Amino acid sequence: MIGPLEELVEALCSLPSIGRKSAWRLALHLMERPEDEAVSLAESIISVRRKVKHCSRCFNFSENELCPVCSSQSRDQSLVCIVEKPADVFAIEKSGRYRGTFHVLGGVLSPLNGITADKLRISELKARIGKEQIRELIVGLGGSADAEATAIYLARLFRNDNVRVTRLARGLPAGMELEYVDQITLSQALCERTDMQYGKE
Ligand SMILES: [Zn+2]
Repeated sequence: MIGPLEELVEALCSLPSIGRKSAWRLALHLMERPEDEAVSLAESIISVRRKVKHCSRCFNFSENELCPVCSSQSRDQSLVCIVEKPADVFAIEKSGRYRGTFHVLGGVLSPLNGITADKLRISELKARIGKEQIRELIVGLGGSADAEATAIYLARLFRNDNVRVTRLARGLPAGMELEYVDQITLSQALCERTDMQYGKE
């Protein structure tokens, strides 16, 4: 039987980069601070989970049916950067250089871990290419072997569609996730993107 404090520690432990020691520190900190601080933290977690959903077009987080990027008139809606997760959208947006839109896959292919194409939002991307005026897909996946395989899979999948498929320039640190790449490297990789060429079938 574990008490409420241990329960909170367990919950905090499940967060990324929070080890048991940090979890205890956070839990004890919350106990020492005034009660309303902890309540307001708890409320903002509940509120963000209830209000923020996925954009119905790009699957980034959004409070509305369409996220601000998808509904913006000043963004180039014919340019779509394919990323693994919403954190990558934040990283690219922070670079401040990208004027296109996004498509969040929800992961990368990893057959050994059971992540096959049907587990990702690939059919949704295919559908977008059918109905939107998309002229270029920028594959903006990280440098892991799975991300690499996914990039090649996508380039081959869309080779018969009338769309240019490019990828972020090499020079991104090998194996690194996009969200940890610094802004200068990321905006350079975007500017110097290269074509992924696969002959039509
Ligand atoms: Zn969107």
